[in-house]
Amino acid sequence: MNSIDKLIKIFSEFPGIGPKQARRFVYFLINKNENYIEELKNEITELRKGVSSCSDCKRYYFSKFDGQNTCSICSDKSRDPSLLMIVSRDIDLENVEKGHYFNGKYFVLGGLVPILDKNPEQRIRLKEMQSLVSRMSSKGLKEIILGLDVNSEAEYTANILKSSLSLLTEKYSIKVSELGRGLSNGTELEYSDPDTIKNALKNRS
Ligand SMILES: [Zn+2]
Repeated sequence: MNSIDKLIKIFSEFPGIGPKQARRFVYFLINKNENYIEELKNEITELRKGVSSCSDCKRYYFSKFDGQNTCSICSDKSRDPSLLMIVSRDIDLENVEKGHYFNGKYFVLGGLVPILDKNPEQRIRLKEMQSLVSRMSSKGLKEIILGLDVNSEAEYTANILKSSLSLLTEKYSIKVSELGRGLSNGTELEYSDPDTIKNALKNRS
């Protein structure tokens, strides 16, 4: 495989990018000058260096090497520890956070589980989620909000989450609500505007 084909293959794996777009990226890069390529190369290398995964919510953040291994949200004492929103991707968390109406904590699953998939723990951070909920349960967690997209894959994932959390939610009487009940079918959280999410949050059940 030559460099062009290799890069096309790499770009094709990006979310939402097909082979045609991947090919356009590659030819775009071929036409760029040395400096551009050098800067791009450096930024990609730096990206991995400065970024850590938060030990609580698992989202990626720029660590300040201050010895802390939790992100700014998880280490913020003013946030409500009785509320936990579970989202599928970092970008969903960022979108909810932009609206400034949610003051609880988060957990990022890292994806959704395709329907009928038998190994959900290989698709999402199921064990890490259970561990966080278990830690938060003894510290006053009252409600878990499933902040997922509204489609069949998200519904399937929500059922897996509910059953894997049932022991904890029953033991500590934690309510499980769904943001999706206030959103229309086919909604992706990533593309929802702040008012839509705010209303969905208000009408969650
Ligand atoms: Zn965090």
